[in-house]
This record gives sequence, structure tokens and C-alpha cells, in this order.
Amino acid sequence: MPLYDYQCQDCQKTFEVRATLKEKEAGLQPQCPHCHSLQTRQLLTSGLFLRKGSDSSLFAAPVCGPTAGPGCCGS
Ligand SMILES: [Zn+2]
Repeated sequence: MPLYDYQCQDCQKTFEVRATLKEKEAGLQPQCPHCHSLQTRQLLTSGLFLRKGSDSSLFAAPVCGPTAGPGCCGS
């Protein structure tokens, strides 16, 4: 089962959550184990820089490579 990193928006602590893909797709909103807040958001840890307060940064732009299809990078 994959592990996900979450951060509590109330106490700013991070914690790990184990969830199946199915649970994830259903819109997982784990509870903070420290203050029991439901105001939690997932942290992406694969080297992505997260801008604070911007939800659009959760989705990285597609990377253009040899396998990139038409329309990549506006071409
Ligand atoms: Zn908390």
C-alpha cells in the first residue's frame, strides 16, 4: 500500500498516511494525528517545488521528451 505525505493546515505538522489507490481516488481527506483537524493537504515529495497557497502547483506541467506527443510545449 502506498504511503502519502500530508501536512496539517492548522498545526503545520506533517504525517504519513497509508491508503489504497481506490481510497485516494475517492478523495482521501485524512485527519491530522496531532490536532485531529481535517484541514490537511497532500505533500508531493518527488522533487517538486510547491508554491504555498497555490493548488495548481499540485499538477506539474508535462515534460517534453522524445516520447512527447503533438501539442507538447505548444508546438
Ligand atoms: Zn494538525
